[in-house]
Amino acid sequence: MSLSSFDQLALSAPLQRALRGLGYQRPTPVQAASIPSILEGRDLLGCAQTGTGKTAAFALPILHRLSAAKRRPAPRNTRALVLTPTRELAMQIAGSFQDYGRHLSLKLMMVFGGVSQGPQIRACAQGLDVLVATPGRLLDLISRGYLRLSSLEVFVLDEADRMLDMGFLPDIKRLLALIPQRRQSLFFSATMPPAIARLADSILVNPVKVQVTPGATPVERIDQRVLFVAQGDKRALLGEVLKDSQTERVLVFTRTKHAADRVVRQLVRSQVKAEAIHGDKPQNVRQAALANFRSGRTRVLVATDIASRGIDVEGITHVINYDLPNEPESYVHRIGRTGRAGADGVAISFCDAQERTYLRNIERLIRQAVPVQDSRAYGDLASLPPRELAAPRPPRHGRRPMIAA
Ligand code: AMP
Repeated sequence: MSLSSFDQLALSAPLQRALRGLGYQRPTPVQAASIPSILEGRDLLGCAQTGTGKTAAFALPILHRLSAAKRRPAPRNTRALVLTPTRELAMQIAGSFQDYGRHLSLKLMMVFGGVSQGPQIRACAQGLDVLVATPGRLLDLISRGYLRLSSLEVFVLDEADRMLDMGFLPDIKRLLALIPQRRQSLFFSATMPPAIARLADSILVNPVKVQVTPGATPVERIDQRVLFVAQGDKRALLGEVLKDSQTERVLVFTRTKHAADRVVRQLVRSQVKAEAIHGDKPQNVRQAALANFRSGRTRVLVATDIASRGIDVEGITHVINYDLPNEPESYVHRIGRTGRAGADGVAISFCDAQERTYLRNIERLIRQAVPVQDSRAYGDLASLPPRELAAPRPPRHGRRPMIAA
């Protein structure tokens, strides 16, 4: 099914408002195909990868159904559970639920290893509407009696193939044994080899099957380029890129908070209006920086991945990856911040010798090679060794969908 606007989907007004705020104009193919069936309460088997808009495909109808039912979550229980393999994905998915559910009053939490458990335990005690979790920490909370899955209404298994690659099958089976038989289950995987198909069979009842044809995903609408550059030349290169008058509203990503501050200092020194947002900045300072960026008072906003959640600024002309992210999904989410609302966006990535592996993993995930631009186009970056430039790389596509697109 192809739909030309979100209005054609029976999503509640607060969700439509959130989508307008984010600048989403029309559903992606996976959204158009999945949302109506999920709203009807059907199980779903989705063959889709990151970059197709699959998170919203399940998050929007789940939020709609949970808020429409107006049931309060039982203490130590959650109404919806999204199981995902990595901490980064958990943060991204929870961030999406937050973005889409901002005008609803539902309780959302994420659970993954490596963070203090106190706040998670307290939140579980009151009951949750949506829990986004990685399997290990979730089982830990359950085995210690802080959480039960006995009143679960919706179960989502995201990136099932990656879950199995990471050895999570026994954990998934243990969790499935704790979930009520009567529930709605949604199963997503980028590939569908036999082991995944068997797992899907054991979870889903008479599912609607959705597979997305590559093309016309949010990522593919973005003009992507990579510039090979030595680490020490990134600063000069950013200065050169920003000389282009087309770079009107620019979001720059760095891997660390420290680097974000350093880039801002350098830009300000060269008279570019720039501010940073990251986890060490108090909320009011972040809000002020966002407001300045939105109004155009600040031309460049420098952010880390986590702080970039909730940047719902329209008209971002360029996203610049000053550092490439080590999690390929973060790349998709970063560049998804430009090119929204039908406008063409540009995403420029700086890649040094150490980041080549990150680039390869990104290209494998998005199943396309990012076109290489010669950084000499941006002036004479003399210290750039020639072998750093535009080395041709064959695209390596490791994650082909098994259900034919
Ligand atoms: P996902 O495949 O869920 O990881 O989403 C990939 C990117 O597409 C994210 O940055 C989303 O914010 C963005 N996105 C999802 N749905 C839409 C839409 N309908 N219109 C524009 N951007 C979208």
